[in-house]
Amino acid sequence: MAEILVLGAGMVGVSTALALQARGHEVVMIDRTAPGRETSYGNAGLIQTEAVEPYAMPLAPGALLQIAMGRGYDVKWNVSGLLSQAQAVLTYARNSLPAAHKRASQTWGKLIRQSTERHGPLIAAAGADNIIRRDGYIEIHRTPAKMDKARKVAERFLTEFGVEATLMDGKQLARLEPSIKIEVEGATHWSDSWNCADPGGLVAAYATLFQKRGGRVVVGDAGDLHRAGKGWKADEAEGEHAVIALGPWSPMLLARYALKVPMVYKRGYHKHYHMETPPNHPIADFGNSVVLSPMRRGLRIATAAELTPHPRLSPPQLKHGEKAAQELFHIGAPVEAEPWTGRRPCMPDMLPVVGRVPDHENLWAHFGHGHQGFTLGPVTAEILADEMDGGQGWAELQPMRLKR
Ligand SMILES: Cc1cc2nc3c(=O)[nH]c(=O)nc-3n(C[C@H](O)[C@H](O)[C@H](O)COP(=O)(O)OP(=O)(O)OC[C@H]3O[C@@H](n4cnc5c(N)ncnc54)[C@H](O)[C@@H]3O)c2cc1C
Repeated sequence: MAEILVLGAGMVGVSTALALQARGHEVVMIDRTAPGRETSYGNAGLIQTEAVEPYAMPLAPGALLQIAMGRGYDVKWNVSGLLSQAQAVLTYARNSLPAAHKRASQTWGKLIRQSTERHGPLIAAAGADNIIRRDGYIEIHRTPAKMDKARKVAERFLTEFGVEATLMDGKQLARLEPSIKIEVEGATHWSDSWNCADPGGLVAAYATLFQKRGGRVVVGDAGDLHRAGKGWKADEAEGEHAVIALGPWSPMLLARYALKVPMVYKRGYHKHYHMETPPNHPIADFGNSVVLSPMRRGLRIATAAELTPHPRLSPPQLKHGEKAAQELFHIGAPVEAEPWTGRRPCMPDMLPVVGRVPDHENLWAHFGHGHQGFTLGPVTAEILADEMDGGQGWAELQPMRLKR
């Protein structure tokens, strides 16, 4: 029996396995598919040292009315999507109010600021430098009012969190990004963030590194987790300890262990488009609720959030994103016929769940990274590994808080 069984091989699970292995533990990881094929595959590929505040629900009356009426593209919803997670959404909204959001940001900001420092050695050891760029991403602003707001955000982030950014006008942006064919008001270059041209490929490279270092990856069903003596068994994999790192599927498994995990499932979509001259950086056009990332497969248009259990074949957010991308660039035909879709695993208090599962010996939780799990996987993995080795863990992240 291995010492530790990690359930789930997304960015969070693979990072957990590597962190534990580096501390000398024998680790086995189980996933029903190859590593990095779910949420950690489909994201915008940003390793975001600038995302120092968790994503708050827009609560201004105008924004709320827009969401309620189904206008705008930031948050879409349908009745079954809202009802199935109503309590969690309401708590998320309450935690988006300024005082609670500031509290969460203090913890979140500390985590986020460690992200490139934690990814760096893994990228090097996994030989994945060829899919990483370390020159940030660009957030464009289409109106003077948005540009003014961006200036204030950049100043505040620098003062409070030490985040570096360069503000530029439309002409400076045109020089940096000649493939943008219209002149916009201006942009923020979040220069110390990184980006990845193949997010699923990075997770797979980390998993290969784990295997090269002696770790074992089993293809099987983690939903089958059960006690085996003092330890745990899932399908063909066994360990004295088990870590639940199943992203948006984690609450389903924990329900079997009498821990009710409220989660907001924010569905996103992406599709790739052929492009002869892609931008030099990912371009975030938050006014149109999309991120446009140059990837190996083409320009990836990734959308904001939809609260729905059932994905759509032709999501309006993606159609709108395609229009915004066409306005900015000469984009070619779609690479795939159907969009990819997945769900961001968001906790209502906006903080990931990292630590010991109450009432179940040797059972650990590691999930709920919301909009930034691709960024944060290696950061919280280190925190969990330290706690499993007898450290204190982080009080704010403990699963115990779910029982109150
Ligand atoms: C459109 C979009 C854009 C995003 N952009 C970014 C970004 O730019 N930067 C960023 O940091 N984050 C981004 N995110 C968020 C990020 O992708 C997630 O937070 C992160 O991938 C979550 O990782 P995870 O390992 O927890 O989950 P996952 O990657 O989903 O991994 C969970 C694993 O569990 C496995 N699993 C589930 N059930 C079972 C079972 N029964 N048996 C065996 N295995 C099972 C799955 O196969 C999967 O491999 C984005 C998300 C979306 C949707």
